[in-house]
Amino acid sequence: MPSQTDSPPTPADRQSAGAAARSAALAQLAAAADHLKLDAGLHETLATPRRSLTVSVPLRHDDGGTTVLHGYRVQHNLARGPAKGGVRFHPSADLDEVTALAMWMTWKCAVVGIPYGGAKGAVTVDPNALSKGELERMTRRYTSEILPLIGPERDIPAPDVGTDEQVMAWMMDTYSVNAGYSVPGVVTGKPIAIGGSRGRAGATSLGVVLATLAALRRLGRDPRACTAAVQGFGKVGALAARYLSEHGVRVVAVSDVLGATHDPRGLDVVQLQLDLAGQDTSVATWPDATPISNAELIGLDVDILVPAALENAITADNVGSVQATLIVEGANGPTSPEADEVLADRGVTVVPDILANAGGVVVSYLEWVQNLQYLAWNEQQVRSHLEAVIDDAFAHVVSVADDKHLSLRRAAHIIGVDRVAQAVTLRGLYP
Ligand code: NAD
Repeated sequence: MPSQTDSPPTPADRQSAGAAARSAALAQLAAAADHLKLDAGLHETLATPRRSLTVSVPLRHDDGGTTVLHGYRVQHNLARGPAKGGVRFHPSADLDEVTALAMWMTWKCAVVGIPYGGAKGAVTVDPNALSKGELERMTRRYTSEILPLIGPERDIPAPDVGTDEQVMAWMMDTYSVNAGYSVPGVVTGKPIAIGGSRGRAGATSLGVVLATLAALRRLGRDPRACTAAVQGFGKVGALAARYLSEHGVRVVAVSDVLGATHDPRGLDVVQLQLDLAGQDTSVATWPDATPISNAELIGLDVDILVPAALENAITADNVGSVQATLIVEGANGPTSPEADEVLADRGVTVVPDILANAGGVVVSYLEWVQNLQYLAWNEQQVRSHLEAVIDDAFAHVVSVADDKHLSLRRAAHIIGVDRVAQAVTLRGLYP
């Protein structure tokens, strides 16, 4: 039923998405700075990225023609350690979006207490429109252009939207060839065969599910009596849907950029993943459930909504349709500040991105630690560390929220911003 599926948003549709994300990130910082009574100079320091690099990425296509793409790497703040953050290949990525994502990485690393600053990178491109050879050439040229900024002690990229462990392998190889020896610690989210960590592939999704279970415990809800809808069926969303099902949550709908699929009795997520594996098709074409649109998925009568696609999924325009009472942000920045206020007024619990999706960067940190020490931990070691970090961070955010009568988002930002502000203050201003 094509009328019930979505057309992919064009870059023009999302033209201002980057600007909206940046202004949301600045508004969240301003609220935290206000609460913490930071002085104006410190607030300005935290609002300003430490370094922003814009590069051109000339790409030789398979037909011999050349196009020049735009790439970015932004390091937001380095006071707590080397910069850490994903690389996104997406047609609407721009400097504003990358800057917002880098700032969120800074607070995220601080909230979960890992010794990194925040960074992010991107190339404005649709990776699905490239052949594998073109993707490799583009990745290697982008890596070589940002080479002066990255390195295991400086800035460690990882996968994000439109990138995967193969892209990380090419980045690691490009850096290593230039260094003259293997440097596995320059990126995380690599294949295990070249120094990747066990448990990294599902880490973000597992963190999302651990945060969901912690939130349900706080609300006195039994996961086996709950329904969920997951927006985005990529690296984060697909495994989050699967792990939620494994914990007894009835996942009734999932979606991708082209549409959604719905079964009120619950989807067989594993079968859906198997049926779609290796196929260039939307979940909306799956014959075992009913196609619906992404707008309908957001408004489904479910207990839990997991936005795991892009920024601005829940805005002033559609927040009125949201029926879920618990929102767990697998994506970065999926809820606009206006929508956030409406949800808070309605008593909806929102587990914010910088806490809910931190599992990825926590296991990236563990991968980096293993690389620096030439160690290889087993999956159980990684998993128990991840569980401890997410559970501790969740408990701390809840205690601050309860103590000060704040939303979980505001509490998480206050904790993150405070830790970074302390680090900046202790280190002082050079010269
Ligand atoms: P991905 O590229 O693997 O998957 C993205 C998914 O979202 C795809 O299924 C795509 O079709 C879908 N999508 C895109 N636009 C959509 C739209 N308008 N409506 C519905 N679905 C749409 O990316 P990912 O790595 O899964 O990242 C998803 C989100 O999670 C991003 O916000 C990313 O920054 C965040 N995140 C990712 C990681 C990680 O480890 N990969 C870690 C933390 C946060």
